[in-house]
Amino acid sequence: MRYHAGGAVVSCPCCHNDTFDKDYRQLNTSGLSFLGLDWANKNATILVCQRCTHISWFMKDPFTEQE
Ligand SMILES: [Zn+2]
Repeated sequence: MRYHAGGAVVSCPCCHNDTFDKDYRQLNTSGLSFLGLDWANKNATILVCQRCTHISWFMKDPFTEQE
């Protein structure tokens, strides 16, 4: 699947592939809470490169080309 974020096609910074698997990860860590960054205690969207498995992190859901 190809994704768009910020008006541009998302491409892998490592291998320049443009197909990814989307998943979600929790951002809450004790370190961030200690620093008062509780706004970060939510889900981030990750896109895993289908070629090299590099993970790109997004605070907003990238949208797919079909949408
Ligand atoms: Zn890659």
